[in-house]
This record gives sequence, C-alpha cells and structure tokens, in this order.
Amino acid sequence: MAMKEFKTESKRLLDMMANSVYTNTDIFLRELISNASDALDKRHILSLTDSEISFEEGKILIETDKNARTITITDNGVGMDKKELEDNLGTIARSGSFEFKKDLDAKSEADIIGQFGVGFYSAFMVADSVEVLSRRVKDEKAYRWFSDMNGYEISSAKKDEPGTIITLHIKKNTKEKKYDKYLDNNELRFLVKKYSDFIRYPIEMWIDSYDYKEDGKSEKVTKLETVNSMVPIWKKNKKEIKEDDYNDFYMQEYYDYSKPLKKIHYKVEGNTSYTALLYIPSQRPFNYYTNDYKLGLKLYSRGVFIKDEAKEIVSDYFRFIRGVVDSDDLSLNISREILQQDHQMNALKKSVDKKIKSTLENMLEKEREDYEKFFDAFGSQLKYGCYDGFGANKDVLIDLIMFKSSFEDKYTTLKEYVSRMKEDQKEIYYAAGESIEKIRQLPQMEKVLDKGYEVLYFTDSVDEFLTSIIMEYDSKQFKSILKGDLDLDSKEEKEELEKKSEESKDLITKIKEILKDKVSDVRLSSRLKTYPVCLVSDDNLSIEMEKILKQMNQEGVKANKIMEINPDHELFKALKDLDEKNEDISEYTELLYDQALLMAGLELEDPAKYALKVSELMLKAIK
Ligand code: ADP
Ligand code: MG
Repeated sequence: MAMKEFKTESKRLLDMMANSVYTNTDIFLRELISNASDALDKRHILSLTDSEISFEEGKILIETDKNARTITITDNGVGMDKKELEDNLGTIARSGSFEFKKDLDAKSEADIIGQFGVGFYSAFMVADSVEVLSRRVKDEKAYRWFSDMNGYEISSAKKDEPGTIITLHIKKNTKEKKYDKYLDNNELRFLVKKYSDFIRYPIEMWIDSYDYKEDGKSEKVTKLETVNSMVPIWKKNKKEIKEDDYNDFYMQEYYDYSKPLKKIHYKVEGNTSYTALLYIPSQRPFNYYTNDYKLGLKLYSRGVFIKDEAKEIVSDYFRFIRGVVDSDDLSLNISREILQQDHQMNALKKSVDKKIKSTLENMLEKEREDYEKFFDAFGSQLKYGCYDGFGANKDVLIDLIMFKSSFEDKYTTLKEYVSRMKEDQKEIYYAAGESIEKIRQLPQMEKVLDKGYEVLYFTDSVDEFLTSIIMEYDSKQFKSILKGDLDLDSKEEKEELEKKSEESKDLITKIKEILKDKVSDVRLSSRLKTYPVCLVSDDNLSIEMEKILKQMNQEGVKANKIMEINPDHELFKALKDLDEKNEDISEYTELLYDQALLMAGLELEDPAKYALKVSELMLKAIK
C-alpha cells in the first residue's frame, strides 16, 4: 500500500519533532494520555444520548516492551473510523496556533512544543514510527494507521472492542539523548504522576513490587496498578497546590504559552454547591474575536466531565474566563440539551458571574497594575457587554470599565472621573478619535483643557456607541466636546458671541452658500483658540461614529456636520475684510473647510485641488 504524504504544515511540524533534542520530549506522554482521556469523555457524552453506546469503565493502559522497543497506550474511548484517522492524524488539529507564530526560530520552536502542546505529533519526538489501531464505537470495522514520518498509510484491521491502541516504536539512543528511559516503567510512571496525575480515568501500568513471605524471603510480582491519583487539581486542597501546579494546569489545558494573570479557586456551599478553578489569561488569545475562539469553561459534575464550552454557566461578557466548574448536584443522566434549560444552571451562572465580578472589583481596587493589564486585553469585551442588549447589563459592568483621560493620560474609572469633576461641571466630557495623540491634537481640545476640565479619550470604536446607550453615569450625562453646543461660556461670553454672530451674519450666510450641502450649518463658536475652524456634529451621530460605521460598510449613515469658525482668529477677520471689499472668498472658504475636514480625520473630496491651492498660496507668500 502506498504511503500518503502529510500536508505541508504537518510536515514542518514533524520535522520540528524529529529534531527536538533541545525540547522537553517528556511531554509526548501527557499529550497521548490527554487524547485518550478526551476520547473517553467523548464516549461518555455520546452514551448519555445514544442508548446503543455503552460506557461502563473508562481506562487507559500503558505498557512497554523493552525488546520490541515499544510503548503502547490503550484506551476504550470513542475510537476513530477511517475518515477520522485520515482527518485527525493527517493534519494538525490546532493549525491556527501554529500559524500564529509564523517566523519560528529554534527557541520559539521549543516554546511551541513545550508549552503550546502539539498533540498527537509529539509522539514523533521519541518514536521513529507510530501505529494507531482504532475502532469507532458503533462501528464493526477497525483500521490501522501507520507512519514512519515520511508519510502515512491506512489499512483495514481487526480489533475486538471499540477504542484506540497507539504503539510507539521508540528511537535508538543518540549521543544527545537517551530514549531508552522511555522503555522503563518506573520512568513512565514518574512522568504520568508529573503531568497527568489529575486525569480522571485510571491510568494503569504493570508495576513491579515485592511480596514478602513469612520466612522473610521476598518474591517479585508484577501487578496492574493505577498510577494516577485521579484527583483533579480543583478538587485538591488549596494548601497542597503550588503556584506552578496552577500555572501548568492552565497552560496545558488552554495551550497558552504565558502564565495566567490570575487564578480564582473557590468552593461554594449551599443551594448550588460547586468547586471552580477559573483563570484570567494574561493576554488576549489571537483568535479571540474570531469564530474560532472557544469559550474556555468546562463543566463537570462530581469530577466527571459533562461538557466543553459551557456557555450556560457564565455570562457572555465574561467569555475571556477559562477554567472548570465542578458541580455537586447536577444530575448526570440528563442530556446536554436539557441541561441548558435547567434552573440549576441559572443559579450556577449567577454565582459564577458574581465571583468573577467581585474578583475583578478586588483587582481594580488592590492590584491596579494587574487590572490595567487585564483591561488592555479584555476591556473592550466588558464595554461590549455594557452596550449589548441596550445596556441591560450596564449596572453590573459599568464600574469595571475604564477610559484613558486627559487627567494623567492614564486609565480612569468613571467613579474616579466624577470624583475629580469641577464644582460647576455638569457633564462628563469625552472626545472620540483614533488615538490619544490624535485626540490631543483636535482643535476643540484646547479650550476645554484650558478651562480645567478633564476629558475622557474614547479610542475604542465601541466607546461612543456605549455612551449613546447608557447615556449617563451617576446622573451625569456624557457629553462629546466634538458635538453640539458645549456650553462652557459664562453669560457675558455668550452675549459677546451672539454680538459677533450678529455682526458677521451676512458673511456667514455667504460661507454657507459656498459650502452648500457639504455642511448642515456654519456658525461662530467659542470652542476654538489657536485654530480658525473645526468640524463638529450635532447631538445625534458623531463624526467618529460615521467613520466606524463606514468601516462596517454602513456608508449611508452620516453625521450632520457643522463648521465652526473662531471669530477671534486673524484669518476670519481677514476673510471678513476681503468680503467687505467685495472680493471673491469662495476659494478661501473651501480651503478652510478642507482644513476642518483634515483635522477631523476625514478624507478630502479633492486632495489634488487642495494641494494646488496651498501651493499657489505658498508661492504668493514666498514671492
Ligand atoms: P487535539 O487533542 O488538540 O485535538 P491532537 O493532535 O492531540 O489534537 O489530536 C488530534 C485528534 O486526533 C484529536 O482531536 C482526536 O480527534 C483524535 N485522536 C487522537 N488520539 C485519539 C484517541 N486516543 N482516541 C480517539 N481520537 C483520538
Ligand atoms: Mg490532544
């Protein structure tokens, strides 16, 4: 039978495996054991809804043969049919995480193998050929998959029971590496203890021991023993768990190569009793905003796996949380569909949500640096949570949200902002823009800061949509300094502006006519200091929201743009003089408008024309 070729990506990974002398090759066992455990979980779950599938006692058996130089790992899990062997073992399962680290050097290769976990292929770190004999549950036929790394072949085979037997043909010792140790049962037992102790199914091995007779003589006997304690880490006493154990468990389970930012290990007793071990990752997974991202909460009942991605037990706005929830009272025989409607689930969710919230609150209060790190990674998620469902959850989340602000260019909560508000300040000021730098350069900023007000920087695309939904905090309205009327002026200042507007009425009307449909209004304003003009929007959609909607292909939605003119600027005065001399002001007006567009971060309608006009003016000035 002809060998089939591995897919390109798999080939590359296999090459890494073969040359992995610098990596911790021990972890191959953990990978194969966890696959066996997954297969048992799968069989168990299928048995809940399919009466033709039995599941009595899940087991994993590890055997060695020194003469044949083999390790065999046997499980009575779900097994694989021909297509599954082809699909699952011919390609890398987690190709995404591999792609993520595209430019690999030798060191980060070691990282991937050691910490990411690369699953089944890690077998090739210690074996030069691997055989998989498998029979799928409810299937009569069995198949044999074989590979010597150059390719693989699949053939029909015989197997009495469903499940999988994996045989590794262990490499010969080299100068750098003694592979022989993997044929030593004691060594393997040590590795099982180290990496797979918490696996909930018994891992059995043939262990030598000595039976002592009455006459004092001893006899060597080899017995099948369960070598793992089967106590999952979350069921252990906190005092017995080292920080490294917590971190290792997280990194192995979630293929994260960095330690979690925080772990939450707790137990609840009462109406809904459960144990949970939750983690806040230290960085956002690369696929967090894609459909590939899997919710990382697993549900167990008394240590027995029920389901992955248990959406029912945590609110979507906390979907960055990973970990396990192990309930004491869930009935095991109900199918997963029924589980979703169970009121017990709701109670569980409420409790889990509450714990996550209080943990975050605590971090915010006592571990500010960590909280800000968390917020950098997942803050947007909380904001979306606030915004979602027309603000249905805003009360839960609003105090966990932060924005950067002009106060110290650092993160601030709304509570902190309000506590610093000036006595005469009625609203919470914000400015939306692409970046803090760009917002700081907005012509509208100067005056507000001069008056001593603090401005929140809205640099996240969700920010302004969020405030348009929640409207206010602590009875104080959110107010964009780029929208509508700012109302910063005293009575005298207002009267002054009115007077100026009256005086320039004709000119303003003329400017309006020149700009026609480009703006919805032109007016004098006290918003500006250094700059001659700016664009603002009315109280509805802001210019920044228009940009975001455009990115989302909602081109039709436009902000009503108002061009505001600084009456105290020399340029305005000059324009006025020019107009009074009955000279044409249309070119200058358009130039001013173009400037306003540029400062608002909007595209010019005709950039070439603008450049020409500026060049002409430069020539005039220079000559
Ligand atoms: P992962 O476990 O992350 O999916 P692996 O490379 O470890 O990636 O395994 C690839 C796939 O091969 C698994 O998802 C599973 O479908 C299948 N598989 C591996 N080992 C077994 C096994 N012992 N029994 C059944 N299926 C298995
Ligand atoms: Mg795996």
